[in-house]
Amino acid sequence: GRSMAVFTSGGDSQGMNSAVRSVVRMGLYLGCRVFFIHEGYQGMVDGGNNIIEASWNSVSDIIQKGGTIIGSARCKDFRERAGRLKAAENLLQHSITNLVCIGGDGSLTGANQFRKDWAGLVQELIDAGRVPASKLAECPNIQIVGLVGSIDNDFCGTDMTIGTDTALHRIIEATDAVVSTAQSHQRAFVIEVMGRHCGYLALVAGLASEADWCFIPEWPPPTNWRELLCEKLAQMRSEGNRLNIIIVAEGAIDRDGSPISAELVQKVITETLHYDTRVTVLGHVQRGGCPTAFDRLLGCRMGAEAVLALMEMTPESEPCVVSIDGNQMVRVPLMQCVERTQAVQKAMDNKDWDTAVRLRGRS
Ligand code: ATP
Repeated sequence: GRSMAVFTSGGDSQGMNSAVRSVVRMGLYLGCRVFFIHEGYQGMVDGGNNIIEASWNSVSDIIQKGGTIIGSARCKDFRERAGRLKAAENLLQHSITNLVCIGGDGSLTGANQFRKDWAGLVQELIDAGRVPASKLAECPNIQIVGLVGSIDNDFCGTDMTIGTDTALHRIIEATDAVVSTAQSHQRAFVIEVMGRHCGYLALVAGLASEADWCFIPEWPPPTNWRELLCEKLAQMRSEGNRLNIIIVAEGAIDRDGSPISAELVQKVITETLHYDTRVTVLGHVQRGGCPTAFDRLLGCRMGAEAVLALMEMTPESEPCVVSIDGNQMVRVPLMQCVERTQAVQKAMDNKDWDTAVRLRGRS
């Protein structure tokens, strides 16, 4: 059977454990050897105890856990060729030529770079006498499948990323809790949620919690937003609402590109309307807790599909991402998704909001 390895990289998200479990069990079921790489690319570069063979039972009792039990990291070394050379050496030691990378667009870009370098890296290791000459024929290339784990839902090419649904649940729980106290005291609450480049969490949380207003990075408000916001809040109060909820994505900006922070919104409301206005920054609470049924199932399905994809790949196959499209698992070229995700960012940098929103949606 083939040898494959699974690792998690970049920010953690709930449901990653379910995906790891599914990769291990589907791999074993199909007669493969499966390895964990602990601590993302750092573990790949450092090797040693970071690369450990998985067994059926080593993934028992993890599906309900948040975060990632095999650890995640950001790794400078892997950005350099020298780091990738070490990583290749460590993988060759175990004859691993199939990788499932669970991470965000950065991690998947790194995986793609690794594959591009692979043949050259192996040749360099042979020339240096660090691996036997037979390795090039044995491991001519590295097959890669990416799964997107990110609470932000910031990746183009999949309807949902692993961890988004759970983060939304945390946000809704916290917002509901805040609403009960706000109602008693006639307050305005400004709630900051995660999403530096992507307003998905803010937008969906806004809809699901009946927020009065939402600020997101992809669609900055009109330049007179201060007046519009205050008019809207005052109108809600005059209609008998005892509270206001405003959701701000952490990356929210105005049309000039300057940040709209929760504190700024608070200042605008207190100075104009003199409402008792409180800021709640949800922070890491959004990343915590147990994964929802949706994220467990998503991880499960994506992990199994990733192994099936690897089994069908040849050394010539381009890396793919397993994504969910209309509730089906589909395989999409990895670089196509990464490039589109980066194009969204570029459009936002260029203040071309129409393009950003169009690219974010389905093609
Ligand atoms: P998140 O969505 O949480 O930010 P991410 O996967 O985008 O996740 P990054 O910090 O961008 O997170 O990338 C994770 C790791 O992937 C980096 O620390 C680095 O090791 C590797 N990586 C990212 N980009 C590249 C690249 N261009 N070349 C090689 N490796 C890269």
